Amino acid sequence: MRWSRGDRTNINDLRGRSSLGFRRGMPLGIGGLLAILLLSWLTGTDILSLLGGGAGGPPQPTSDAVGTSGSVTATPEEEELVDFMDAVMADAQQTWDQLLGERYERTKVVLFRDQVDSACGSAESATGPFYCPADRQIYLDLSFFDELRRRFGAPGDFAQAYVVAHELGHHVQSLLGIERRVRAQQRANPGQANALSVRMELQADCLAGVWGHAASGSGRAARGLVELEPGDAEEGLRAAAAIGDDRLQRMSRGQVVPDAFTHGSSQQRVEWFNRGLRAGRVDACDTFNGM
Ligand SMILES: [Zn+2]
Repeated sequence: MRWSRGDRTNINDLRGRSSLGFRRGMPLGIGGLLAILLLSWLTGTDILSLLGGGAGGPPQPTSDAVGTSGSVTATPEEEELVDFMDAVMADAQQTWDQLLGERYERTKVVLFRDQVDSACGSAESATGPFYCPADRQIYLDLSFFDELRRRFGAPGDFAQAYVVAHELGHHVQSLLGIERRVRAQQRANPGQANALSVRMELQADCLAGVWGHAASGSGRAARGLVELEPGDAEEGLRAAAAIGDDRLQRMSRGQVVPDAFTHGSSQQRVEWFNRGLRAGRVDACDTFNGM
């Protein structure tokens, strides 16, 4: 991918606010924590909570000097990643602005470490990236991308961009009233809750593809936009195939907690991402009638 550094106006940086170590004892090393984060994201279960949150351990400061001062210690690589997230968000939001016109409202990615409070409840890194419809923001702990690369075998910047674009797809669903309608249907018909969730997730994959289509145009990099390069779409497809999904069902006050939650098969995820990618249109993403 080619992209240009922006002004980070698409980022709400709370990395310096959170501190897992001070919040409660955490007997897990960072490696163990990341493994649990991965497992939780894959299985849809907040395994960290199941473990009792490490009760009994003494409070420990985190080693990366995160505190309440708002200052943040980060490697140059992480700062580069923040700039990249901002560039992807700027580009994808411009795309949605053009596609939806007045119906589109800009949002931000809230970057956090370890733990964050959202309008959907308190969330931990183990929640994975998620979108909160109540405050219409995307929440992301950048450590997730380490797992995406190392454990899922889905490296590459477009794989990362795909994750953000998927969450932005949930934002579009919220703005268009789709999310609200689906939640109402789920309450009215609990037996269909899982199936409806899957369709929501696949639609978010398709909407991520719609942005991928726009970002595939040539000459974009020269205009300061994101421009996909050969192989990028395949990266996104690999990521779609490799990963399960996020979030709402793992929020501590989550709205949807189906035990047998599934996000659709890898094949379904790839297919819907591809549909959006090829068509570049929202109407190609009607997962509620097109299955
Ligand atoms: Zn999702």
